[in-house]
Amino acid sequence: LLKEKTKKMKLHELSLKEQLNGLKEGSFSSTELTQHYLDRISNLDKDLNSFITVTPDLALDQAKESDKRYKSNKALPLDGIPIAHKDIFCTEDILTTCGSKMLSNFKAPYSSTVVENLSSDGVVVLGKTNMDEFAMGSSNETSFFGPVKNPWNKEYVPGGSSGGSAACVSAQLASAATATDTGGSIRQPAALCGLTGIKPTYGRVSRYGMIAFASSLDQGGVLARSAEDSAILLESMSGHDPKDSTSLNEDVPNFTENLDAPIKGMKIGLPKEFFERDLPQYVESSTREAIETYKDLGAEICEISLPNVDLSLPVYYIIAPAECSANLSRYDGVRYGYRCEDPKDIEDLYMRTREEGFGSEVKRRVLIGTYALSAGYYDAYYLKAQKCRRLVANDFVEAFNSVDLILSPTTPDTSFKAGEKSDDPIEMYLQDIFTIPANLAGLPGISFPCGNHEGLPLGVQLVGNSLKETQLLNAAHQFQSVTDWHKKLPEVK
Ligand code: GLN
Repeated sequence: LLKEKTKKMKLHELSLKEQLNGLKEGSFSSTELTQHYLDRISNLDKDLNSFITVTPDLALDQAKESDKRYKSNKALPLDGIPIAHKDIFCTEDILTTCGSKMLSNFKAPYSSTVVENLSSDGVVVLGKTNMDEFAMGSSNETSFFGPVKNPWNKEYVPGGSSGGSAACVSAQLASAATATDTGGSIRQPAALCGLTGIKPTYGRVSRYGMIAFASSLDQGGVLARSAEDSAILLESMSGHDPKDSTSLNEDVPNFTENLDAPIKGMKIGLPKEFFERDLPQYVESSTREAIETYKDLGAEICEISLPNVDLSLPVYYIIAPAECSANLSRYDGVRYGYRCEDPKDIEDLYMRTREEGFGSEVKRRVLIGTYALSAGYYDAYYLKAQKCRRLVANDFVEAFNSVDLILSPTTPDTSFKAGEKSDDPIEMYLQDIFTIPANLAGLPGISFPCGNHEGLPLGVQLVGNSLKETQLLNAAHQFQSVTDWHKKLPEVK
């Protein structure tokens, strides 16, 4: 059956799971699959700009090795699957820019654990994807390498900061991609590009070699075409890493094993604070439809309250900039990355390097963060924000006493036009109003497609209790087994 299907369908139309089966059965080789994606990238990505670096030689070498392993029956779990890495993950000897001029010449001396884990399971690396500078943004317009376009409509943004990863998977230029989420950067672009994106529990995926933005919030994850594909990739990425002191020493469950389990009796809570917001009618109605689907699947729906959730955005915009101002102090022109020309003295070297190397959103955050941490203001801003963060996290602890999962829209609206929000940071920050709470509480969240309005996709979000990725993926997969929003993909020319 699969052989028939793969003959009729083009290789990029197959899901990651189907590609894996096709490779196992010998319907096509990894070299063919990889070359197919490389051709698509060279034909279609000039316009989309989803890649910063394409690595065709490396990819074809890896594909050849993978084909050999299939021939000798030594195939690895993800052998021969072509993926892309967000350019925030260090890749040995390959440009790793984090979307910034500051690192536009930086070849990492080592690979991140995420990259290593996936490589040791046999993936093929097509290249590194575009992103908002240092992962700060919601539209992929802050990248030094230019904006990324949304494959559904090129006048619109793909979301951010993992906009390149989302655009390339949605345009079927890679089977799936790695991404990171500090306040919504996996789930928001997933929603805006019609994909499934999972941000696991804080600590599930190692941050070693993942360029730091806000260390207590940053978490690696996946952008893929379905919950099933996400589960396959996440399993390979996850696991305890002694090189990351915040990595959780927990066994990684088999994320795919439980996908087909019925969800009858699962309790899903709807936070009233989210549903009281003024949402466009089409966001409201597609979310309600998703809720109906869950009722049909046997889930029990109830209203819950997260009384402090409105603090999330202001709290995030103290804590994230504070941590970013500390993390980004390492870019001083001395150690690595960009250095200004002909510095007069050390002071001039620091100042001009940072003035010239960082874009304006990054500078805004460094200034806010430095201010919030300065003597005299630390107590008033940073310490207070930490206390409020605890209140938000406690609301979730309370909520999970009575429900298994929490459902809401992923974003307040569909995608917006390029340029529409770039002059108004607050408008841009509001993109993450539904996603940030999970980062503050360190909880896993998933977004998947649940509708379409005027040709642009809409996403629904589920947040689970700590370490409950299996449950999230199960609930998303069950939704996808009775709906086909996730199967709709843009036709890119
Ligand atoms: N949009 C949010 C910000 O700009 C979140 C970014 C992220 O998750 N990396 O901070």
